[in-house]
Amino acid sequence: MRLDSFDLDPFFLFDEVKPNTCIADIAPEAPFESVKITCRLVRGHMRCGNRLSDLDVIVPCDSPPDVVFTWGSWCLVQERTLRIFQDEGLTGFSSRPARARSQDGRAFPVSELVITGWGGIAPEASGIRELERCPACGHLRYSGIEEPRELLDLNNWDRSDFFMVWPLPMYRFVTGRVAEVCAKHKITGITLERNFPLPSEHVISGYSPGRLSYYMPADRAHALGDSLRIS
Ligand SMILES: [Zn+2]
Repeated sequence: MRLDSFDLDPFFLFDEVKPNTCIADIAPEAPFESVKITCRLVRGHMRCGNRLSDLDVIVPCDSPPDVVFTWGSWCLVQERTLRIFQDEGLTGFSSRPARARSQDGRAFPVSELVITGWGGIAPEASGIRELERCPACGHLRYSGIEEPRELLDLNNWDRSDFFMVWPLPMYRFVTGRVAEVCAKHKITGITLERNFPLPSEHVISGYSPGRLSYYMPADRAHALGDSLRIS
């Protein structure tokens, strides 16, 4: 029997409110630039690598929430929220400069929330296994998740309040501490999900996340990923 979801206790998924009526869009005059990666062996490995430019977005609602997600699931936090996370001593994140404005042109201060905490590589028991590792361009491909109950292995977790599990870098896992802080300060724009949503069929077919350095600062990606050859 296949489960529809999986209880993440003691963790949560830090996710957008659904349905999200205020998804930020990349400002049309400032499309972000990424490193273009081509492969001398396999044409299908062509992809976008590291994002070179900071996010510059338009937020389509009158009073933007504290946490704003973009199409493509990048995560922005308003300055007040970033300060709260820092002042409360939460760990496992850093920030990257970003710009945001409302549709009528009002700018408001935000930063991109970058996850640097680490939950390790998804255990094989989760069904996620490395299928392909290109010697020419570093393209990585993994099979899809089958057993969400096996996704988190506490032995691989670095104790950060925010953390990711590879190869699912856009899923932001958080501790109960984050949930407490968000409740205490009434942080808006997020839901803290106890259940890991079972992905739709096309996602079950697998993951091609690129490399760890696309999602976090280079020095951190090297520290975590060099020995695993995923940085
Ligand atoms: Zn390749």
